[in-house]
Amino acid sequence: MARTALVTGANRGIGFEAARQLARAGLDVVLTARDPDAGRAAAAELGLRCEQLDVSSDESVRAAAERLERDGVAVDVLVNNAGVLLSGGILDVDDELVRDTLEVNLLGPLRTARAFMPGMIERGYGRVVNVSSGSGSLTEAGAYTPVYGISKAALNMLTRQLAFAAEGHGDVKVNAMCPGWVRTDMGGGAAPRSVEEGVDTIVWLATLPPDGPSNGFFRDRRPAAW
Ligand code: NAP
Repeated sequence: MARTALVTGANRGIGFEAARQLARAGLDVVLTARDPDAGRAAAAELGLRCEQLDVSSDESVRAAAERLERDGVAVDVLVNNAGVLLSGGILDVDDELVRDTLEVNLLGPLRTARAFMPGMIERGYGRVVNVSSGSGSLTEAGAYTPVYGISKAALNMLTRQLAFAAEGHGDVKVNAMCPGWVRTDMGGGAAPRSVEEGVDTIVWLATLPPDGPSNGFFRDRRPAAW
Protein backbone atom coordinates (compact mmCIF):
# COMPACT_ATOMS: atom_id res chain seq x y z
CA MET A 1 0.00 0.00 0.00
CA ALA A 2 1.28 3.47 -0.85
CA ARG A 3 2.57 5.64 1.97
CA THR A 4 0.76 8.89 2.68
CA ALA A 5 2.66 12.17 2.80
CA LEU A 6 1.37 15.47 4.14
CA VAL A 7 3.07 18.67 3.00
CA THR A 8 2.51 22.02 4.71
CA GLY A 9 2.48 25.30 2.79
CA ALA A 10 2.06 23.35 -0.43
CA ASN A 11 -0.03 25.80 -2.43
CA ARG A 12 3.09 27.35 -4.00
CA GLY A 13 6.87 27.33 -4.14
CA ILE A 14 8.92 24.48 -2.72
CA GLY A 15 5.92 22.90 -0.96
CA PHE A 16 3.91 22.66 -4.20
CA GLU A 17 6.84 21.08 -6.03
CA ALA A 18 7.46 18.69 -3.12
CA ALA A 19 3.82 17.59 -3.28
CA ARG A 20 4.12 17.10 -7.06
CA GLN A 21 7.33 15.06 -6.82
CA LEU A 22 6.16 12.94 -3.89
CA ALA A 23 2.99 12.08 -5.81
CA ARG A 24 5.09 11.25 -8.84
CA ALA A 25 7.21 8.97 -6.61
CA GLY A 26 4.05 7.00 -5.87
CA LEU A 27 2.97 8.40 -2.50
CA ASP A 28 -0.58 9.45 -1.67
CA VAL A 29 -0.12 13.14 -1.00
CA VAL A 30 -2.25 15.43 1.13
CA LEU A 31 -1.57 18.97 -0.03
CA THR A 32 -2.18 21.45 2.75
CA ALA A 33 -2.42 25.24 2.73
CA ARG A 34 -3.54 27.93 5.13
CA ASP A 35 -5.72 29.54 2.45
CA PRO A 36 -8.37 26.97 1.46
CA ASP A 37 -8.97 28.47 -2.00
CA ALA A 38 -5.26 28.53 -2.84
CA GLY A 39 -4.94 24.99 -1.50
CA ARG A 40 -7.90 23.71 -3.53
CA ALA A 41 -6.58 25.29 -6.72
CA ALA A 42 -3.08 23.82 -6.21
CA ALA A 43 -4.44 20.38 -5.28
CA ALA A 44 -6.77 20.36 -8.29
CA GLU A 45 -3.80 21.06 -10.56
CA LEU A 46 -2.02 17.99 -9.20
CA GLY A 47 -5.11 15.81 -8.63
CA LEU A 48 -4.43 15.57 -4.88
CA ARG A 49 -6.44 15.69 -1.67
CA CYS A 50 -6.37 19.09 -0.03
CA GLU A 51 -6.72 20.09 3.62
CA GLN A 52 -6.84 23.56 5.11
CA LEU A 53 -3.97 23.71 7.60
CA ASP A 54 -2.55 26.87 9.11
CA VAL A 55 0.56 25.83 11.02
CA SER A 56 0.30 28.90 13.24
CA SER A 57 -3.01 27.68 14.65
CA ASP A 58 -3.34 24.80 17.10
CA GLU A 59 -7.00 24.52 16.23
CA SER A 60 -6.36 24.34 12.49
CA VAL A 61 -3.70 21.63 12.87
CA ARG A 62 -5.91 19.62 15.23
CA ALA A 63 -8.96 19.93 12.97
CA ALA A 64 -6.99 18.78 9.90
CA ALA A 65 -5.60 15.80 11.86
CA GLU A 66 -9.13 14.89 13.01
CA ARG A 67 -10.56 15.04 9.49
CA LEU A 68 -7.80 12.75 8.22
CA GLU A 69 -8.24 10.32 11.10
CA ARG A 70 -11.99 10.26 10.53
CA ASP A 71 -11.33 9.33 6.88
CA GLY A 72 -8.87 6.61 7.87
CA VAL A 73 -5.89 8.49 6.42
CA ALA A 74 -2.69 7.80 8.40
CA VAL A 75 0.16 10.23 7.76
CA ASP A 76 3.41 8.31 7.24
CA VAL A 77 5.49 11.19 5.90
CA LEU A 78 5.34 14.75 7.20
CA VAL A 79 7.05 17.52 5.25
CA ASN A 80 7.21 20.65 7.38
CA ASN A 81 7.70 23.13 4.57
CA ALA A 82 5.55 26.15 5.49
CA GLY A 83 7.74 29.08 6.41
CA VAL A 84 7.98 32.84 6.49
CA LEU A 85 10.90 35.19 6.03
CA LEU A 86 10.08 38.47 7.77
CA SER A 87 12.74 41.19 7.62
CA GLY A 88 14.04 43.02 10.62
CA GLY A 89 17.45 44.14 11.88
CA ILE A 90 18.45 42.29 15.01
CA LEU A 91 18.80 45.39 17.21
CA ASP A 92 15.65 47.20 16.11
CA VAL A 93 13.29 44.34 15.38
CA ASP A 94 9.80 44.34 16.94
CA ASP A 95 8.99 41.52 19.34
CA GLU A 96 5.90 40.90 17.25
CA LEU A 97 7.93 40.08 14.14
CA VAL A 98 10.02 37.63 16.16
CA ARG A 99 6.88 36.02 17.55
CA ASP A 100 5.22 35.83 14.12
CA THR A 101 8.33 34.17 12.70
CA LEU A 102 8.67 31.60 15.48
CA GLU A 103 4.93 30.93 15.38
CA VAL A 104 5.26 29.59 11.83
CA ASN A 105 8.85 28.39 11.49
CA LEU A 106 9.26 26.75 14.92
CA LEU A 107 5.89 26.20 16.56
CA GLY A 108 4.33 25.19 13.22
CA PRO A 109 6.51 22.07 12.82
CA LEU A 110 6.14 21.33 16.54
CA ARG A 111 2.35 21.42 16.21
CA THR A 112 2.30 19.11 13.18
CA ALA A 113 4.82 16.77 14.82
CA ARG A 114 2.60 16.54 17.91
CA ALA A 115 -0.38 15.82 15.67
CA PHE A 116 1.20 13.21 13.40
CA MET A 117 4.30 11.70 15.03
CA PRO A 118 2.50 9.70 17.74
CA GLY A 119 0.72 7.77 14.97
CA MET A 120 4.03 7.13 13.22
CA ILE A 121 5.58 5.89 16.46
CA GLU A 122 2.56 3.67 17.12
CA ARG A 123 2.73 2.16 13.62
CA GLY A 124 6.54 1.93 13.70
CA TYR A 125 7.09 3.85 10.47
CA GLY A 126 7.53 7.54 9.75
CA ARG A 127 9.55 10.13 7.90
CA VAL A 128 9.61 13.74 9.07
CA VAL A 129 11.38 16.27 6.88
CA ASN A 130 11.87 19.75 8.28
CA VAL A 131 12.61 22.31 5.58
CA SER A 132 15.25 24.43 7.23
CA SER A 133 17.96 26.68 5.83
CA GLY A 134 21.69 27.31 5.90
CA SER A 135 20.66 30.58 7.62
CA GLY A 136 19.86 28.43 10.64
CA SER A 137 23.26 26.78 10.74
CA LEU A 138 25.32 27.95 13.71
CA THR A 139 28.49 27.45 11.67
CA GLU A 140 27.34 28.83 8.29
CA ALA A 141 25.11 31.71 9.42
CA GLY A 142 25.79 35.24 8.23
CA ALA A 143 24.35 38.60 9.29
CA TYR A 144 21.52 38.46 6.73
CA THR A 145 17.94 37.65 7.80
CA PRO A 146 18.76 37.33 11.53
CA VAL A 147 15.29 36.54 12.87
CA TYR A 148 14.67 33.97 10.16
CA GLY A 149 18.08 32.44 10.97
CA ILE A 150 17.20 32.22 14.66
CA SER A 151 13.93 30.47 13.79
CA LYS A 152 15.67 27.96 11.52
CA ALA A 153 18.38 27.27 14.14
CA ALA A 154 15.53 26.54 16.54
CA LEU A 155 13.93 24.29 13.91
CA ASN A 156 17.21 22.40 13.63
CA MET A 157 17.21 21.77 17.38
CA LEU A 158 13.55 20.80 17.20
CA THR A 159 14.57 18.28 14.54
CA ARG A 160 17.12 16.76 16.90
CA GLN A 161 14.68 16.61 19.80
CA LEU A 162 11.98 14.98 17.65
CA ALA A 163 14.54 12.48 16.36
CA PHE A 164 15.52 11.64 19.95
CA ALA A 165 11.83 11.17 20.80
CA ALA A 166 11.45 8.73 17.88
CA GLU A 167 14.48 6.63 18.77
CA GLY A 168 13.68 3.06 19.71
CA HIS A 169 10.19 3.22 18.19
CA GLY A 170 10.76 1.36 14.96
CA ASP A 171 11.56 2.96 11.63
CA VAL A 172 10.74 6.60 12.38
CA LYS A 173 13.25 9.10 11.05
CA VAL A 174 13.39 12.85 11.56
CA ASN A 175 15.74 15.03 9.53
CA ALA A 176 16.22 18.66 8.57
CA MET A 177 17.36 19.90 5.19
CA CYS A 178 18.38 23.04 3.36
CA PRO A 179 17.02 23.36 -0.19
CA GLY A 180 19.68 25.90 -1.20
CA TRP A 181 18.72 29.29 -2.61
CA VAL A 182 15.64 28.57 -4.70
CA ARG A 183 13.61 30.68 -7.16
CA THR A 184 10.29 31.12 -5.33
CA ASP A 185 8.37 34.11 -3.96
CA MET A 186 10.63 33.86 -0.90
CA GLY A 187 13.89 33.17 -2.73
CA GLY A 188 13.30 35.72 -5.50
CA GLY A 189 14.05 35.56 -9.21
CA ALA A 190 17.84 35.84 -8.84
CA ALA A 191 18.18 32.55 -6.94
CA PRO A 192 20.30 30.01 -8.80
CA ARG A 193 18.18 26.93 -8.09
CA SER A 194 14.91 25.76 -9.60
CA VAL A 195 12.21 24.34 -7.33
CA GLU A 196 12.91 20.92 -8.86
CA GLU A 197 16.52 21.11 -7.61
CA GLY A 198 15.44 22.50 -4.23
CA VAL A 199 13.03 19.64 -3.63
CA ASP A 200 15.37 16.76 -4.47
CA THR A 201 16.69 16.30 -0.92
CA ILE A 202 13.17 16.59 0.52
CA VAL A 203 11.98 13.66 -1.60
CA TRP A 204 15.11 11.69 -0.78
CA LEU A 205 14.57 12.16 2.99
CA ALA A 206 10.83 11.50 2.68
CA THR A 207 11.47 8.12 1.08
CA LEU A 208 14.60 6.96 2.95
CA PRO A 209 15.05 3.20 3.28
CA PRO A 210 15.16 1.67 6.80
CA ASP A 211 18.96 1.94 6.92
CA GLY A 212 18.88 5.64 6.02
CA PRO A 213 19.94 8.41 8.40
CA SER A 214 17.94 10.11 11.15
CA ASN A 215 18.71 13.13 13.33
CA GLY A 216 20.68 14.82 10.54
CA PHE A 217 20.81 18.07 8.61
CA PHE A 218 21.28 17.68 4.83
CA ARG A 219 21.87 19.66 1.67
CA ASP A 220 22.13 17.98 -1.72
CA ARG A 221 21.70 14.60 0.02
CA ARG A 222 24.90 15.18 2.00
CA PRO A 223 25.33 16.12 5.68
CA ALA A 224 25.39 19.88 6.24
CA ALA A 225 26.92 21.67 9.24
CA TRP A 226 24.38 22.25 12.02
P1 NAP B 1 7.26 30.74 -0.41
O1 NAP B 1 7.25 30.70 -1.89
O2 NAP B 1 7.17 32.06 0.28
O3 NAP B 1 6.09 29.78 0.13
C1 NAP B 1 5.88 29.68 1.50
C2 NAP B 1 4.71 28.75 1.73
O4 NAP B 1 4.51 28.66 3.15
C3 NAP B 1 3.42 29.28 1.12
O5 NAP B 1 2.66 28.21 0.64
C4 NAP B 1 2.74 29.93 2.32
O6 NAP B 1 1.34 30.02 2.21
C5 NAP B 1 3.14 28.93 3.38
N1 NAP B 1 2.86 29.42 4.72
C6 NAP B 1 3.33 30.53 5.32
N2 NAP B 1 2.78 30.64 6.56
C7 NAP B 1 1.97 29.57 6.72
C8 NAP B 1 1.13 29.12 7.77
N3 NAP B 1 0.97 29.81 8.90
N4 NAP B 1 0.48 27.94 7.61
C9 NAP B 1 0.60 27.23 6.46
N5 NAP B 1 1.34 27.64 5.42
C10 NAP B 1 2.01 28.79 5.56
O7 NAP B 1 8.56 30.06 0.17
P2 NAP B 1 9.48 28.84 -0.38
O8 NAP B 1 10.70 29.43 -0.95
O9 NAP B 1 8.65 27.90 -1.15
O10 NAP B 1 9.89 28.23 1.04
C11 NAP B 1 9.44 26.97 1.51
C12 NAP B 1 10.33 26.57 2.67
O11 NAP B 1 11.70 26.51 2.22
C13 NAP B 1 10.32 27.57 3.83
O12 NAP B 1 10.34 26.88 5.05
C14 NAP B 1 11.61 28.34 3.63
O13 NAP B 1 12.09 28.89 4.83
C15 NAP B 1 12.52 27.26 3.10
N6 NAP B 1 13.68 27.77 2.36
C16 NAP B 1 13.53 28.43 1.19
C17 NAP B 1 14.66 28.89 0.52
C18 NAP B 1 14.56 29.61 -0.81
O14 NAP B 1 15.62 30.02 -1.33
N7 NAP B 1 13.40 29.77 -1.39
C19 NAP B 1 15.93 28.67 1.05
C20 NAP B 1 16.06 27.98 2.26
C21 NAP B 1 14.91 27.52 2.90
P3 NAP B 1 0.60 31.35 1.64
O15 NAP B 1 0.60 31.23 0.14
O16 NAP B 1 -0.77 31.28 2.25
O17 NAP B 1 1.38 32.53 2.10
